[in-house]
Amino acid sequence: MYSVFKFGGASIRDVHNIINVGKILQSYSNDKLVIVFSAMGKVTNMLENLVEDYVNGNTDPFISLQKVKDFHYSILDQLFEKQDSIFDKVNNLFVEIERILEEKPTNEYSYIYDQIVSIGEFLSTKIMSNYLLNIGFNNLLLDARDLIKTDNSYGNGKVDWDLTTNCIKSNVKANHCITQGFIGCTSENFTTTLGREGSDFSAAILAFCLDANQVVIWKDVPGMMNADPKYFDSPILLEKVSFDEAIELAYFGAKIIHPKTIQPLKKKKIPLYIKSFLNPHNKGSHI
Ligand code: ASP
Ligand code: MG
Repeated sequence: MYSVFKFGGASIRDVHNIINVGKILQSYSNDKLVIVFSAMGKVTNMLENLVEDYVNGNTDPFISLQKVKDFHYSILDQLFEKQDSIFDKVNNLFVEIERILEEKPTNEYSYIYDQIVSIGEFLSTKIMSNYLLNIGFNNLLLDARDLIKTDNSYGNGKVDWDLTTNCIKSNVKANHCITQGFIGCTSENFTTTLGREGSDFSAAILAFCLDANQVVIWKDVPGMMNADPKYFDSPILLEKVSFDEAIELAYFGAKIIHPKTIQPLKKKKIPLYIKSFLNPHNKGSHI
């Protein structure tokens, strides 16, 4: 049985954190894992700005692109040898963005958004898969577009559950699979996104379709709290929360897990753990 792990942008925002994620994964190397990554750090926001610039035409989008490049290349320089094949792979992804930017924006906004913003996840997963191979953590990188099938509501793809279940069951076979969060694919093979913070949902979709034994969302907080630790001094860690309580908490602004993510897990009674990537041995929350 698979466990589905999801690592968000903060967990892989710099080399220090990436090395930490590598260590966490090595400690689970005997488990069957599907590992979902979102884009590194604030890359999704950076790419959103790039799309704005491109579509509005007021600011040169290549300036934003350069920021995204600098961010990733600084990580690559610290993490890989100069001759590593990752440099070409990452470069090819930037070329995909450049090809779009060289043409005038004629398509609808949300279509353009999905084609460009999704590159953040393709970048992070390529980098993480290669880094993990280098440290001896075997893994197979799967393209989320072969797994999660949606309609063509760009920016907010609606999952075709039957098709998605078939695709996930036939492609997820290796002991350690890695894939992109947040991304789906239309029947015409165009990239869609599932809405901001969609990577948690991707993890839930994978778990639902695989009948996984658990989902672990690795965060920079100790677990699910009764209040937002950013605004309250001493929020309490909720060690055990029911699915319904978690949904309620989400509606009351405990911005931890979106109800959309909880629903498929609730349906199949798949436990969800929120754990801290800073203190991976701590219990965290069990939903
Ligand atoms: N990278 C996307 C976002 O920041 C998806 C995610 O992180 O869940 O919204
Ligand atoms: Mg993100």
